[in-house]
Amino acid sequence: MLDCFYTKPIFKNFKKTQAKKYFILTYGCQMNESDSERIGFYLEKKAYKPAKSEKQADLVILNICSVRQSAVNRIYSKINKLKTIKTKPKIFITGCVLDKDKKKFKILGASYKKFGQIAMKKDCKHKIGYVPIMRGCNNFCSYCVVPYTRGREFSRSPNTILREVRELLKQGHTEIVLLGQNVNSYLFKKTDFSNLLKLINNISGDFKIRFLTNHPKDMSDKLINTISKCEKIIKEIHLPVQSGDNKILRAMNRKYTKEHYLNLIKKIRKKIPNIKFTTDVIVGFPGETKAQFQNTADLVKKVKFTNAYIAKYSPRPETTAFNLDNNISHKEKKRREKILRKIVFKK
Ligand code: SF4
Repeated sequence: MLDCFYTKPIFKNFKKTQAKKYFILTYGCQMNESDSERIGFYLEKKAYKPAKSEKQADLVILNICSVRQSAVNRIYSKINKLKTIKTKPKIFITGCVLDKDKKKFKILGASYKKFGQIAMKKDCKHKIGYVPIMRGCNNFCSYCVVPYTRGREFSRSPNTILREVRELLKQGHTEIVLLGQNVNSYLFKKTDFSNLLKLINNISGDFKIRFLTNHPKDMSDKLINTISKCEKIIKEIHLPVQSGDNKILRAMNRKYTKEHYLNLIKKIRKKIPNIKFTTDVIVGFPGETKAQFQNTADLVKKVKFTNAYIAKYSPRPETTAFNLDNNISHKEKKRREKILRKIVFKK
């Protein structure tokens, strides 16, 4: 058994003969997708069966993302819809949830449940196998709820991770994706992310390694060297830049400058000539002038990302940026988003 625990038993009086059905709705990032697979596995071990749709379920779990307010608003209406289902399912919320939302969801009839580390699903058929290596974040970017919803950084032990990777390879997965809010700050005792990558790369077999997501400030020379040397690592790095303007980067509390970011790209390209970069960008951060946005557009043009997740700034309660004047209109944010899309996707 891998490290598997569930913080509070939700089905204390559950009788195996009941054969109840569950349905999980997943929103947001790969971390949530991976967690949902594991929650499903956990429920099946408790004799729950997967339902074909939420309408046939006795238990619906909403594994949610709080990065944008619009995403949270959609959950409120989803809960109201679920309450009209004939089977009257129990509704649980998990994932990335702010305390204030937990209270509101509860009033609506959906309780928050915290799942701990659950063993991975045993019968995944797809080629990608997700392995969470760490959770949480210590960075407190001024716009981001993750440090509030996921808590401080916590790295899983290398032994547990290696065991899971081997198990996934045995099942036939050919691509291992290491997940975490900030994988390149992984640290378990003396094992840092670079050491961990080497250990995984040394596992025999024909497979590839991918990892996300990274913080530019934690991309050390040692790590760049390891990525270049390990033949199983896919030569594509997701390196969120968020803005190409130093004043905005400071206001975002990103802890690096445009120059640092561009030097990093240059350094990595020199060491790994065939490397590809993908990124995240936020447009319309409070106070972002047209000239400041242009700095971002220039950086995006310069780096030539192969993919980019472009988000319109959305104020999130509890974050420091929440108190700033969200003074860029939705229309202007959309315009800026369109410009960046054109640069990255050439359409
Ligand atoms: S590093 Fe990422 S997860 Fe952490 S606060 Fe910043 S944006 Fe959020």
